[in-house]
Amino acid sequence: MDETLPQGLWRLPWPRLRRALTVAALHLHQFLWLGVFLVPFQLGLLLAALVLGMVLVIGVEMGHHRYFSHRSFRVGRGFQCVIALWASASFERGILWWASMHRLHHRHSDTPLDPHTPLRRAGGGFLHAYLRWAVHPRNAEPDYRLVKDLLAYPELRFIGQFPYLVSAAYAGLAWGLGAAGWVGSSGLQTWVWLYAMPVTLCQQIISAQATLAHGVPRLPGSYQPLPCKDASLNHRWLGLISTGGGFHNNHHHFPSSARLGLRPGEWDISYGAILLFKRLGLVHSINVPQRALDYGRTGRIGTDRS
Ligand SMILES: [Zn+2]
Ligand SMILES: [Zn+2]
Repeated sequence: MDETLPQGLWRLPWPRLRRALTVAALHLHQFLWLGVFLVPFQLGLLLAALVLGMVLVIGVEMGHHRYFSHRSFRVGRGFQCVIALWASASFERGILWWASMHRLHHRHSDTPLDPHTPLRRAGGGFLHAYLRWAVHPRNAEPDYRLVKDLLAYPELRFIGQFPYLVSAAYAGLAWGLGAAGWVGSSGLQTWVWLYAMPVTLCQQIISAQATLAHGVPRLPGSYQPLPCKDASLNHRWLGLISTGGGFHNNHHHFPSSARLGLRPGEWDISYGAILLFKRLGLVHSINVPQRALDYGRTGRIGTDRS
């Protein structure tokens, strides 16, 4: 990994402290959901937590994954900034780190150089792919050489370096809603239900996808219809709750495609969001290779990859 910091970026000068803070913050977020035992239950807040959790998953799948990692559609600079903030609210380390790690994942899928393979024969494992990889010293910093396209934008450099400011603002907003008495709850109650629970839900779905979509353990109903060198699989339910990312074999076969659910019954919610934003004039140049569309229609694939 290249340790030099590109021009225009800043970070704490002490790598050990930097890593300790990141590890502590990530681990702390594994337990925030326990706050539900400290506050009264409200059905309305539970429903809001589920909706917000799925909104965060769309932020990760549409933002971190399909836009920043694969650039599979285009947006204007203002909406690009909105997507960066939206994705960063999920407490998933930020766009520069996420895109760098994900591009490595595709380059070396299910080999020892893959940052989060769950396959033991490639040096991974279930726990490694679920959580440990994110705090592994090898993955502590982004490889900035892999995200030069994102570094070209000062606002993306800032959001990518300080994603926890976005999370802090989101957490403060959730607390403030309750503290201001706008939703008939206390500050702690709205913080638990509108911040801690949605972030937990989002992180568990994304973590589960990292390992289940590469076959560890192999979920009943998983299928691999398209030839790939890696262990990527599709799964209908995983695809649904991950807003499309669980059609992972489709994705590894057509990595540049903005649409991951291709066959009937492969419901791709993030692609629906991309189409909605296109209707609103915020998204253009959506890339879906003709071969992917042909496969979706016929169930058969051609020969050239795109
Ligand atoms: Zn990908
Ligand atoms: Zn994968």
